[in-house]
Amino acid sequence: MSTRTTFDTRLKKKETPPVMMRGYGMLEVNKTGWLEKTRPVAGPLDAIVRPTIVAPCSSDTHVSHGGSGPKKDLILGHEAVGIVEEVGELVTKFAPGDRVVVPCVTPDWLSMGTQSGKSTAHDHFMMGSFKFLSQKDGIFAEYFHVNQADANLVHMPDDVSPEAALMTVDMMSTGFHGAELAEIGYGDTVVVIGIGPVGLMAVAGAQLRGAGRIIGIGTRPNCVKIAREYGATDIVSYKEGDIVEQIKDLTGGGADKVIIAGGDAETFRQAVDMTKEMGVVSNINFFDLSHVLSMPAWSWGLGMANKDIRGGFCPGGALRIQKLLEVIRHGRLDTTKIISHKFNGFEKMEDAFDLMDKKAPDLIKPIVYMDAQ
Ligand code: NDP
Ligand code: ZN
Repeated sequence: MSTRTTFDTRLKKKETPPVMMRGYGMLEVNKTGWLEKTRPVAGPLDAIVRPTIVAPCSSDTHVSHGGSGPKKDLILGHEAVGIVEEVGELVTKFAPGDRVVVPCVTPDWLSMGTQSGKSTAHDHFMMGSFKFLSQKDGIFAEYFHVNQADANLVHMPDDVSPEAALMTVDMMSTGFHGAELAEIGYGDTVVVIGIGPVGLMAVAGAQLRGAGRIIGIGTRPNCVKIAREYGATDIVSYKEGDIVEQIKDLTGGGADKVIIAGGDAETFRQAVDMTKEMGVVSNINFFDLSHVLSMPAWSWGLGMANKDIRGGFCPGGALRIQKLLEVIRHGRLDTTKIISHKFNGFEKMEDAFDLMDKKAPDLIKPIVYMDAQ
């Protein structure tokens, strides 16, 4: 038996006649649309969830264009809150009818990679804990499957709005991961390259970790406004000259910590260049398969400057999201500021996805209420 076969997939529930459901996803690379698929079935440790609000993400559009390898007939989506529809017989913490927040990364907690302390690793398979999109259908559907529900679902707190909770499952978790990887300390000068929803959350994370100066790089006016509200002290436009020069001028030599949350292959070199000796470059941006990340040896101080270069995927599981919900519950962050567009009804999924794909100038983060409000 393959070591990648999970407990939940091996112990299938008793045979039941297939029920069909609708989903929205990629028919093939560069072509999205409606799909009719079999409703998933819960294994003994799993749950089936009916989404109530979903959010399209840059990662969905990236995958739809073939970003992580060719795929077809795949339901997209990985950011959802919802209601438990069905649980497997070994699930103890959840029951049908429970309101839940669903982490976008749902590890197999029995895997060796996860036991080694990295919630994103499944054995030695990169991003193996990202089940939606990479190993099974996503959440833009009438129902979706969650593996190991007791460890991968979170009860919706009564004092957090579902919209605020929805923003934790990827945007806040990923943006905060950028701040964690950067090991931001009190008074650090931090640059966040890219202030879309992910970068905005990195700005908020940097602020909560006690950064001194926080410089956001981006141009969309509504993002610039929220970046300032979340703690950015300065804004730099990558459209108005070389960002390395701009940052060096502003800071008198470079930043302590640089988080990459947007840009292209060239951004990598720029990030390393604008980071001071002993500093950290923390990447949470998805580079494209076609990108080549390169830099002159001098950018990295000939390897002698103790500049750390790190990159990582959004951590997974219930505890992570519970902790982020605590930040919201106690009034430290309003994640709903990044929601720029609201769509009513699953029928509007296509419009929401299109908006995300084309990146309208006033777009930050769209959400879709599955039932019209
Ligand atoms: P957006 O496209 O909304 O934002 C990108 C930001 O980068 C914008 O502020 C944009 O500026 C800025 N930007 C664009 N080009 C450049 C450039 N050449 N130089 C500097 N800044 C630039 O993206 P998201 O916030 O939705 O996502 C950011 C990244 O995070 C994506 O790559 C996404 O795939 C990735 N991601 C990673 C995850 C992880 O776990 N690691 C999870 C989720 C997402 P402007 O204001 O002009 O638009
Ligand atoms: Zn996402």
